[in-house]
Amino acid sequence: MSDNNSFRAEVAAWLEANCPASMRRPIVAEEMVWGGSRLQFQNEDQRLWFERCRERGWFAPGWPREYGGGGLTPKQARIVEEEMARLSCRQPQYNLGVWMLGPVLLEVGTEEQKREHLIPMMRGERRWCQGFSEPNAGSDLASLKTSARRVQDADGEAYIVNGSKIWTSYGDQADWMYALVRTDASARKQQGISFVLIDMHAPGVSVKPIELISGKSSFCEVFFDNVRVPVRQLVGPEGEGWAVAKKLLQHERAAMSKFAEGGAPSHDALAVARPYLQEAAPAQAAVWRDRLAAQLMDAHAFALTHQRVTAQAMARQDVSGPAAIMKLVQTEQEVAKYELLVQVMGLNGLSWEGEDFTALEHDICRQWLLTKTYTIGGGTSEVQLNIIAKRVLGLPA
Ligand SMILES: Cc1cc2nc3c(=O)[nH]c(=O)nc-3n(C[C@H](O)[C@H](O)[C@H](O)COP(=O)(O)OP(=O)(O)OC[C@H]3O[C@@H](n4cnc5c(N)ncnc54)[C@H](O)[C@@H]3O)c2cc1C
Repeated sequence: MSDNNSFRAEVAAWLEANCPASMRRPIVAEEMVWGGSRLQFQNEDQRLWFERCRERGWFAPGWPREYGGGGLTPKQARIVEEEMARLSCRQPQYNLGVWMLGPVLLEVGTEEQKREHLIPMMRGERRWCQGFSEPNAGSDLASLKTSARRVQDADGEAYIVNGSKIWTSYGDQADWMYALVRTDASARKQQGISFVLIDMHAPGVSVKPIELISGKSSFCEVFFDNVRVPVRQLVGPEGEGWAVAKKLLQHERAAMSKFAEGGAPSHDALAVARPYLQEAAPAQAAVWRDRLAAQLMDAHAFALTHQRVTAQAMARQDVSGPAAIMKLVQTEQEVAKYELLVQVMGLNGLSWEGEDFTALEHDICRQWLLTKTYTIGGGTSEVQLNIIAKRVLGLPA
């Protein structure tokens, strides 16, 4: 047996023995365990799974051990991910820090920043939010106006931050924010931006949840009123935050395209549809079967392409183009999948609450609505198409 095969067998055996059965069912949004100072478990299985993975450093199997990761080679880390996906193991911790900020800090962070931020992230003690979007800076992110003025005061060098952010997912739950701020208003649009880490508990930070039509929302507005951010929380050189953000967005797109591998709530389309197909008129059922088959083939093709791109990334090839394509394709596929499921379920697919519907029907309906946000967050589909046209296909702007 090759080393990789015996490692795979070891991982599979460990997962079989340690991942509780209830942590191998498709996840629903309410059951996601987010790290941070407000960490909560709804049941003992969640806690066990979280703690067992934390002990092994498997919140990030490929990160160095000194920062709390698993210390595995890229190939071994990939094997852990594959085996978790094969056994339908849930992610033990959901945290924007682990998915997006961590890889950036590993690449460009100072030693002090790595120690200060990666270790608590890997212990599940610090939850992160993303402070990029502003009221007039979404797709056109470089228009952002939140200012950071550099000062020298009794406690050392710092930035004084003023302005606001919007659409900050879980801003009210986060301990820290990675943010883009304008450190030079006179520089060209993308050159005066810096990437900083802001303590959400610092004086002058206030958070206001945004209520949505459903009554629920993870979105917040975040306001900064003379917030002091020590200069040691600047990531990368001052004024070069745009380059840091581009690295991070690449990880964001990759994280979003991983949804297909069980990273986020998703359902087995065939298993969900089967009972409704059995009750449908034969002609209608035939049409849906065709569409389901097409959906399954697309999902399979995506999973294979994902494997290939991951292998290219591990071989240190540039995958920024494919990363943009993966995010676009995967999120559009998820939208199409839930559109189809809601159609197959008929009125049962439009169940918000009430005992006439099953828990699965409620779940599919919520998920159907949620998938619509996937094609906006992390860059809209239209903007991904622009990036693909320009950077991947080299079409004229
Ligand atoms: C679920 C979700 C979570 C989010 N979480 C966060 C978060 O945690 N932190 C954060 O900072 N932001 C977050 N966002 C915000 C998100 O990044 C922005 O909504 C997104 O970048 C779009 O910006 P906008 O809303 O200002 O839309 P706009 O930029 O105003 O776009 C409006 C429409 O115009 C289209 N459009 C704009 N420019 C072009 C163009 N050049 N060519 C073609 N079409 C164009 C867009 O595609 C879109 O359809 C989140 C959004 C969602 C939906």
